[in-house]
Amino acid sequence: MRWWLWRDRGYDPKRLIVHHAGFAFEGWPKPRLDDQADIMRCVMLIINEIDSWHLKKWPSGFGYHYVIGNGNGIPEGMIVQIRPDEKIGVNAKYHNHDSLGILMVGNYQVDKIVPDLQYRSLMKLCANLCIKYHLDPRANYEGRHSGKVQMGPMISGHRDWPEHRTNECPGISLYQTLPSLRGEVSKLVLMANQLPPDQTNLAKPMDLEISVLRV
Ligand SMILES: [Zn+2]
Repeated sequence: MRWWLWRDRGYDPKRLIVHHAGFAFEGWPKPRLDDQADIMRCVMLIINEIDSWHLKKWPSGFGYHYVIGNGNGIPEGMIVQIRPDEKIGVNAKYHNHDSLGILMVGNYQVDKIVPDLQYRSLMKLCANLCIKYHLDPRANYEGRHSGKVQMGPMISGHRDWPEHRTNECPGISLYQTLPSLRGEVSKLVLMANQLPPDQTNLAKPMDLEISVLRV
């Protein structure tokens, strides 16, 4: 990845876009879960592979902000941040300027089940980002870019956006979970907003373990 080409956004992200890798990485090295160095070695194999796909298409490389493991290579439910939130990603053409891209490892056009821990991490990550950036998980996003009105769910799948309707991403089985995901995220955000009165009224993001890859 060529992090020196990542551009600053200059304002907070305004929507979340969920993707799948279209590839399950079956048979890729699985780390020993008690060995942090081994975990990071296996994580880097996957990250570098996806980076190489992206480098063929655009110069800045790895286009998503977050990756969530499915248990092949990246442990199931592990959240890894690649691009910082404040950098513009490359995750959906015409929609990169104000979005964060979240990649679920797997091929959910083929695989029927989204692993439980992976789904839960997606839910918690979306909740944290909604709290942090004051996004309503059930709301519709409405924006304008290059003279065009853009409308879609605040927590969307890649194919929700007009120029990407023919794209399979994030795969049928993951896409079908998004309505209930929005409901679950909404509950988590509501809970975070009900902090005891002696605390600040501002909701705080939940404790969430995110491995940040320094590139
Ligand atoms: Zn996608």
